[in-house]
Amino acid sequence: MTFEAVDICKAFDGFEVLRNVSISMPLDGLVGLIGPNGAGKSTLFSVISGFMPPSSGHVTFDGMSMDGMSASARARQGMVRTFQVPKEFSHLTVRENLMAAAPGQAGESLSGLFLRPGLIRQQEKALKARADEVIAFLRLDRVADSSAGLLSGGQKKLLELGRALMVEPRLILLDEPFAGVNPVLIAEIMERIRELNGRGIGFFIIEHDLEALTRLVSHLYVMDQGAILAEGEPAAVLAEKAVRDAYLGG
Ligand code: ADP
Ligand code: MG
Repeated sequence: MTFEAVDICKAFDGFEVLRNVSISMPLDGLVGLIGPNGAGKSTLFSVISGFMPPSSGHVTFDGMSMDGMSASARARQGMVRTFQVPKEFSHLTVRENLMAAAPGQAGESLSGLFLRPGLIRQQEKALKARADEVIAFLRLDRVADSSAGLLSGGQKKLLELGRALMVEPRLILLDEPFAGVNPVLIAEIMERIRELNGRGIGFFIIEHDLEALTRLVSHLYVMDQGAILAEGEPAAVLAEKAVRDAYLGG
């Protein structure tokens, strides 16, 4: 069971942001992606999660082509991303944000609404139960009924992870989960990621905090100027001269 992105290219107005980027990882792997600002990391996430089409290239998930699929169709297949800047609904509570993130929620289909009136209440109950599970897992109990806009930066990152968990994912793409998060909460988020990975959920993680990331992942990709520069075991990759030149400034 593998996730693969093959020869992904992406250009904005003729400016090539991704140039033949290929990634391959086990669906239950724990893999990191680093690279200087502007390398194209977030754009790669947008393309492979279906938020924008590639100029060319292919994505396969557990042997199935995802080319042309919408982001929500990809999420229903089990691949979901978080955003570098959290996209919570600030006026909704934490629990409401989680419930809104689930795919195929009650009320989405009008025919369901008219044909099976009891279903809505039943679905909403199941959805709330799922949200409460995620809240307990992420230790967000104390803020479950607070407006998401009032959360700290770190709590918003946790909520992003929680929104991803609502779709019962197989592979989660995390875009800078530790950015702006205090060290105590970083340790906690890392622990949750390890726990989820132990249950078979894969992670592909963009992160600037190299120290935290290399403690977490078993495989590392490095991007620079839209292309993969190196990949492999984290310590070995970070020791490569080309990586140090491009990323660490020599
Ligand atoms: P990273 O996440 O590695 O910092 P990004 O993927 O955000 O890099 O950006 C890569 C490059 O693509 C940057 O030069 C950025 O300005 C450009 N870029 C990103 N998104 C867009 C867009 N929607 N339109 C035009 N250019 C973009
Ligand atoms: Mg980025």
